[in-house]
Amino acid sequence: MSRTILLPNKLAGVLHNLTKYKEEHNGVLIYRPDSKYHPDSYYCPVSYAGITGKGTPGHVRADPRSIEILNAFLKENPEHRYIKWHTHSVETIRTFGNYYAENFSSGDISSYDEQINYDPDFIGMVVTPKKILIYGRDNPKIRTVSSFPSTENKRIKKRIEEHMRQKNFSIRDILEKKS
Ligand SMILES: [Zn+2]
Repeated sequence: MSRTILLPNKLAGVLHNLTKYKEEHNGVLIYRPDSKYHPDSYYCPVSYAGITGKGTPGHVRADPRSIEILNAFLKENPEHRYIKWHTHSVETIRTFGNYYAENFSSGDISSYDEQINYDPDFIGMVVTPKKILIYGRDNPKIRTVSSFPSTENKRIKKRIEEHMRQKNFSIRDILEKKS
């Protein structure tokens, strides 16, 4: 198996901007793989980026409500999958060293390995001010693309916002959280 993530420039820009904050952020990218037609070597075109948590460098945790919302979405859209991302912010690098601008932490790798045990297709991603790192059992590649799947993006966004309203939850609950 060999996978290539197709990340729209627009979403890569959003992720890159988040590395400029003091806090670390985490979240998910949603894609629909074309594995049905190409089981051995397929594309993972990303159409949505969501934030699930914010925290101090090295201690970002996802808000449990945002995970419930993601799970509800994936349950009703089983052909979709997700990539879990977090940032190593400028402050992470200032605090822990330049190594983390180029590399996963050992904690990142052990948590990814654990998740791959449960879900062999799991993909982890770290966004630093310098680069995007990808972790998966087949060593997935990433390519940024200029096209943006706006119809698909709107559909996912609408559905996730409906789930948020049902839970009386807003993205502001994460972004305005004091850490
Ligand atoms: Zn990390």
